[in-house]
Amino acid sequence: MEKRLRLAPSPTGLLHIGTARTALFNWLYAKKNSGKFLIRIEDTDVVRSKAEYTKNILEGLKWLGLNWDEEPIKQSQRMTIHKNHIKRLLEIGAAYRCFTSESEILELREKQKTNGLPPKHDNRHRNLTSKEIEEFISQGRSSVIRFKIDEETEIKWEDQIRGEIKWRGKDLGGDLVLSRRALGYEIGDPLYNLAVVVDDNFMNITHVVRGEDHISNTAKQILIYRALDFKLPIFSHTPLILNSEGKKLSKRDSVTSIDEFKEMGYLPEALANYMAFLGWAIKTPESEILTLSEISKIFNLSEVNKAGAKFNWEKLNWINAQYIKKMELTKLSAFIKNYWIDMGWKSPSKEWDLKLTALIQDSMILLKDAVEQSKPFFSLSQIQKDGNEFLENKKEAKESLKYVLYYLKEENISKITNDKAQEIISKISTKHSIKKGILMKSLRVAFFGCLSGPDLIQSWELFSENKSDISLIERCLI
Ligand code: GLU
Repeated sequence: MEKRLRLAPSPTGLLHIGTARTALFNWLYAKKNSGKFLIRIEDTDVVRSKAEYTKNILEGLKWLGLNWDEEPIKQSQRMTIHKNHIKRLLEIGAAYRCFTSESEILELREKQKTNGLPPKHDNRHRNLTSKEIEEFISQGRSSVIRFKIDEETEIKWEDQIRGEIKWRGKDLGGDLVLSRRALGYEIGDPLYNLAVVVDDNFMNITHVVRGEDHISNTAKQILIYRALDFKLPIFSHTPLILNSEGKKLSKRDSVTSIDEFKEMGYLPEALANYMAFLGWAIKTPESEILTLSEISKIFNLSEVNKAGAKFNWEKLNWINAQYIKKMELTKLSAFIKNYWIDMGWKSPSKEWDLKLTALIQDSMILLKDAVEQSKPFFSLSQIQKDGNEFLENKKEAKESLKYVLYYLKEENISKITNDKAQEIISKISTKHSIKKGILMKSLRVAFFGCLSGPDLIQSWELFSENKSDISLIERCLI
């Protein structure tokens, strides 16, 4: 039988790393089994759901390479179907109308609190007669529909990640509310646990893979599956993503939405590759740099950890750097160029762009590192303390720069090549007995303002093509 999995995001916020990781595990399992990965937008909360969030979630999934196989379903369009199923549950006696008012519920909670008991509905309207129902309605009381939960029932399922999970009816908080309040004999808007069962059944979902925060919902949903005589899917509950302190990763950890990772300069391939390791690990890794399609071949839900997965920035950065290192130069240059455009930086030629890209490629961790690393080639970098000390205290430092200027001007060199740069350095070193090291460090200070930076000769070539090498050297001699 075809394996059908789904992601069921609520569009009440931007695509979150937790939802994206759940999507990835669903996607990987579907691909591994030549199955289908589907999307259902759970937009029944009209106040919090927004079309822009749906757009953001779908775009984010696409960006990560998690394409879906069928047109996404919108839960809000299936309300009548959900209500029909509630009617059926009423008809077969599995559900009933409950008129307990908000204030009565509050009163019950308070009582339970003072007695140290957990909140639980007392199912007071489970056995109302039709006359009593009529009376409540004529008093203008609103009602919800509650699903009967037998206290004695035991719910058991084989979770693909956690093994056998058992739950008792009496621990589910009393009879379950299936719909919002409505007046008269109306049925109010259906709620999550009912809608999810009806829709997963309709979409022929064979495997439900979702966060561990849904475990108690699964217990409730299994009871609804049983009452409606629907075939049960196989459940898997993924571990939470934790921050470095072992707490659930949240907005306070500064980055949680996929957009933010994108803005920070992570590549989609790298982020997706890393996310696969959030709760799962390759048994015998030859390389951890793998495409999604490669991962899908070796991924197994039964190998996913039960314990929370700590978010490891160092590992993510390392993976991102590996992807940048092996990226095709023209592709990387196009990314970098966008940053330059944003900064208002203009380059002399496409060839120059590629050379500078190649120069910084290996030292980049994030795409946006390109801004810092290419900055000296576009705007004057101030001379730092170490650079200044070197120029002032190192005998022959300034002198060596004077010779560079002299040869550049005397030979009328308008563009330095690698060979020419080597030639000038050797000439100054032999003719004027200045150590090559001193000369090169002095040039580094002139170009970058400090004693560190990328390869000097290649940098010189770029500064020369940018026509800034002479003025950069001259500023050190004033
Ligand atoms: N809309 C639910 C959520 O975003 C879906 C849970 C599920 O997968 O059933 O948490």
